[in-house]
Amino acid sequence: MPRRVPLRTCIGCKTVRPKRELVRVVRTPGGVVELDTTGKRSGRGAYVCPDEGCLDEATRARRWEKALGISPDSALIEKLKDRIREIRSKGGVS
Ligand SMILES: [Zn+2]
Repeated sequence: MPRRVPLRTCIGCKTVRPKRELVRVVRTPGGVVELDTTGKRSGRGAYVCPDEGCLDEATRARRWEKALGISPDSALIEKLKDRIREIRSKGGVS
């Protein structure tokens, strides 16, 4: 157990959680928005809980734009939903 767990805020429900429990979306230095399954890619990151409600809220309230400067396109939203379902089917991020 590390002594200090990095915390991040979900842009959907604004809950602060350990970074590894959240789904990270990164805006790469090239300006492309992508799903970051490793949590380690360089670029500006935004986080949501593995919860479709948070994803929907972040998208509806345009929080992606605020956090990253651009919004994910519908293909990326679908990818995020798949990722969330995958995490939930495993019972958590691993
Ligand atoms: Zn959330």
